[in-house]
Amino acid sequence: MTSSQNKELVVITGASSGIGASMAKAFSHAGHPLLLLARRVERMEELKLDNCMTAKIDVTDLDAMKAAITKAEAKFGPVGCLVNNAGVMLLGAADVQDPAEWQKMVDVNVMGVLNGIHSVLGNMKARKSGTIINVSSVAGRKTFGNHAAYCGTKFAVHAMTENIREEVAPFDVRMITIAPGAVETELLGHTTDKDIVAGYESWKESMGSVIGPDVIADAALYAWQQPKSVCIREIVLASTRQE
Ligand code: NDP
Repeated sequence: MTSSQNKELVVITGASSGIGASMAKAFSHAGHPLLLLARRVERMEELKLDNCMTAKIDVTDLDAMKAAITKAEAKFGPVGCLVNNAGVMLLGAADVQDPAEWQKMVDVNVMGVLNGIHSVLGNMKARKSGTIINVSSVAGRKTFGNHAAYCGTKFAVHAMTENIREEVAPFDVRMITIAPGAVETELLGHTTDKDIVAGYESWKESMGSVIGPDVIADAALYAWQQPKSVCIREIVLASTRQE
């Protein structure tokens, strides 16, 4: 890590649980001021991190996200790193799943990521400095049963990240995809089909154990802490036993 990266503002979406909360702790312990964004603001405040602003934000609301970032930049200076982590996974069979669930995943997992990028990219290009880490999934690299819409959104995260990386490389802006395998968090809890949830749980049990969110947080911090002349484009990581 270069000294200038030491104290730059880091914005993390979906920091109220799971991977985002672990990332907030990891980046805070590395000395960064933070802006944490999610709807359950009380969960982010309970983390009790130093130099940490929180805002009750739905990532589908571009204006609200921009306003929160402007406020944090007034206090902590320009955003050095944005982590687009917020996401939802609603598994279902394509012929029976409520289309409202597909729409929700597209809104949060795709539009939410684009909203985050849109909120910071102009300033990063102007400053010729900045890093955007988008959290995708192994489900953005291969498909799984009952994951059609979720996989679609995560394949999109890979494509968008790489496309924008090519666009902004001349501006010294880094675009990074982190693609975790199964991680023990609240993510599965939003799927309504009980048989699919049970099948997913037994798939996780078949691996012995899945990785914890701190492993993903460490990977994000590692990618960020490389010298700014180095862009780790993608990290795919999962339990050794995950196929
Ligand atoms: P969690 O359900 O524990 O966390 C999801 C986070 O996203 C919460 O903080 C939630 O906050 C936030 N979020 C959801 N919807 C919105 C919204 N509309 N606006 C703002 N924030 C929102 O799951 P994970 O920690 O596992 O998920 C984090 C990311 O990791 C996701 O993108 C997920 O797809 C990805 N991932 C997870 C894997 C896993 O196995 N757990 C595997 C691969 C990828 P709140 O509800 O307070 O708004």
